Formats: sequence, structure tokens, C-alpha cells
Amino acid sequence: MSAIYDIHTHDFPEVPGTAIVQLTPAGYCMYPGHVYSVGLHPWDIQDDWKAQMAKVAVMAMHPHVLAIGEAGLDKKKSPVPMGIQMDVFREHVRLSEMLHKPLIVHCVKAIDELLAIRKEMGVKHPWVLHGYRGGPNQAEQLRRAGIYVSLGLDYNTDTLLNMPFKYLLFESDTYGDVSVLYNLTSEDMDAKEESVRSLVAKNIVAFLKSHYDASFE
Ligand SMILES: [Zn+2]
Repeated sequence: MSAIYDIHTHDFPEVPGTAIVQLTPAGYCMYPGHVYSVGLHPWDIQDDWKAQMAKVAVMAMHPHVLAIGEAGLDKKKSPVPMGIQMDVFREHVRLSEMLHKPLIVHCVKAIDELLAIRKEMGVKHPWVLHGYRGGPNQAEQLRRAGIYVSLGLDYNTDTLLNMPFKYLLFESDTYGDVSVLYNLTSEDMDAKEESVRSLVAKNIVAFLKSHYDASFE
């Protein structure tokens, strides 16, 4: 299997297997050679969300689906009541725990609810908060709770330089090729792009394999 340099994208990478491609239950095409995550985004929750989640559950079992999500809570952009968003999110958490696949989280203005669900459900597997723009202090708090952060193009430089690097993941999300991100971050870090790539690839492997354990304490 090739190294994965991008934990979350909505596009197929040029080299199959180098990025985790986001699938939704609405329409998908699982081209061979690629690796995937599957989830119901809080913006896309419909009245028949139980049927939507039944599809997600079937897709999630596929061996090329390495993670669950993105799924989560959005108080700003989702018209869906928070109670339903939380129920749908809990379904993703159950899948993640049951299938031993980590969860990619979308969270806007609902960190407290997110942490409460993690605690209430006694979650063992790691999560990653994608598109993280916050500072290193909050990132450290999340890490202690078992939640990695993933940096996209609008990353906070302070977080990049001051978080223990092994807890950082990178993503392109909807912004095209992840190379741009490696270019920018390696300049900020005064490091070679290749070495940043291999470090992040290692972090992604660790994230995908790890269960919640003492290493988060
Ligand atoms: Zn996304």
C-alpha cells in the first residue's frame, strides 16, 4: 500500500491510495486502488437519516474504507436541529468503535457537545477534528481527550510549530492538491518538503491503527 499523505479529501488523488477520499451515502463510486472514509455530513442529514445511516453502515464495512466520517456537529451552517445531529453523530461513533476504524470529525461551534459525546460513550478509538484552525492550546486539550487535529490550507502557524508534530495530520479537503499544503508548511517549519511528507504519512498510519490508550495521556 502506498503512503497516505492526505487524511481527508473530496477529490480523487492522482496517485490512488495516497489520500483518504470522502464518500457519502448519496452517490459514490469506489474506484479500485483508492482508500476511503464514509459518513453523513451534518449538512446532508435528511428526514430519512436512518435509511441514510443504514447505507453508511454497509459501506463502512468495506476493507478499503479506512475511517468513518466526515461526520459531526455544526451549529452554524446546518439547518438540522442539534438533537438530531447528535443522534446521527452517535451512530457514526458506534460504527467507528465497532469496526475499529477512527472517526473524521466536522465540528463547528460545538466542541463542548463533541467532548460530552466522546465521554458519555466511553470512546476507545481516536478521532480527528478536520480543518482545524485553532491554536495549540486547544489542540493540546483535544489531544488529551484522544482527538487529533488535521490542518488544511488555512492552518494556524502557531499550532503547526508548537504542537508535538506526531499529533498533526494534513488534509486538502476541497482545496485540490495537498502538495500546496506541504509546500507552505515545510517553509514555515524550515524543513524539507519530503521529510514533512514522510512524518505526516507516519502520523496518519499511527492514527489509523491506534486505539485509545495510554499514549494519549
Ligand atoms: Zn470535508
